[in-house]
Amino acid sequence: MSDMKFIDAGWLIDGSGGPVLKNVRIGTEKESIVSINESGFKDPSIKAADLSLCTILPPLVDSHVHLCMSGTVDPFVRKKQLDINFADAKVVISNHIAQHLSHGVLAVRDGGDKYAHSLRYLNECHDIMESPVKIKVSGKAWHKAGRYGGLIGRPPEKNCSLAQAIKNCSDKIDYIKIVNSGLNSLKEFSKETGPQFSIKELSDAVKIAERLGLKVMVHANGKKPVEFALVSGCHSIEHGFFMGDENLGLMAKKNIIWVPTACTMKAYLEHMEKKSVEYDVTCMNLEHQLKQIENARKYGVTVALGTDSGSTGVHHGLAVKEELNLLITAGYSVPEAVKCATFNGAELLGINEFGHIARGEPATFIAIEGMPSDIPSSLSSIKAIFINGRIRYSDQAKSKDYCAWD
Ligand SMILES: [Zn+2]
Repeated sequence: MSDMKFIDAGWLIDGSGGPVLKNVRIGTEKESIVSINESGFKDPSIKAADLSLCTILPPLVDSHVHLCMSGTVDPFVRKKQLDINFADAKVVISNHIAQHLSHGVLAVRDGGDKYAHSLRYLNECHDIMESPVKIKVSGKAWHKAGRYGGLIGRPPEKNCSLAQAIKNCSDKIDYIKIVNSGLNSLKEFSKETGPQFSIKELSDAVKIAERLGLKVMVHANGKKPVEFALVSGCHSIEHGFFMGDENLGLMAKKNIIWVPTACTMKAYLEHMEKKSVEYDVTCMNLEHQLKQIENARKYGVTVALGTDSGSTGVHHGLAVKEELNLLITAGYSVPEAVKCATFNGAELLGINEFGHIARGEPATFIAIEGMPSDIPSSLSSIKAIFINGRIRYSDQAKSKDYCAWD
């Protein structure tokens, strides 16, 4: 007997950035997609899961989070979270992973924490929790002594180069995270901080990382800090506020991925005193970043969606919706923005199991209520998550919509 199962999807966004397909019958067998029929829901004799009022897309990927921290705006809680012990961090991280799952996010990349709790969680707890959310971690980030970065990492020891420090501490991590600038000023528009490391230090660090089979993600804002990271051959630029058009061009040329995290500024705005200098500067920071994203699209820069969840006001899972909205505001079509949030993120994180819905690929995708034009607000209404041909999550486990399925 055939193991084939069918889904009738109202709309399909396949993750490639190409046009939306309408009224698609998706056939799966065991764990894989075996057919995608665009000629509508013909042959009513075939039993199919009815998702005709839903849009199907690849699982979402958040390429920049901090699992140890929540998006709380309460300074007392934030301070406590920064010095959290592992027993408490386990609970916090599990909750954040659950929040990602409930928003259809099936992979996250952690940008570092002071005590490497996320790394330890991945090694000691993640399998036990049996969550389908994939976690990639960088452990503790690297920053220059005396410069910004202590919240998420540490500097190399005295008399130890950045490259040597990386070589000594690369166990079990998926990424090397380097902090190469300060934070954005909320008081002075476009104020830049200098690079933390020289091109030589960064180039040596990238070489060592590549020898260890690791990619390098660089926190960098401003022209010089971004330029140094790009010239050194890093694999992704995180934030990249005020980097300028020349760096965008270089990024496109060198095929280095950009993770703009624009929603961090939006989140600040929502909790700031209006009629303050900070509010005006933050507004301008956001506008400037949206313009850079618009230009990145024109230049052909590969953008991967990342939220910096765990920053003030940036909530795990929910923030993906915000960032998608900002990409669309900056001129991306819905399928293009979805590509940033799915295919590009999966590529960056080295995930092969999902990112593109096509024949021969694993039957792993999410179904959200409504049509593509309802994205991103419809991301709050995840109808079902399919992983390797099985329903992993649905709004009503026994819904008649799925009776043909399980
Ligand atoms: Zn971050």
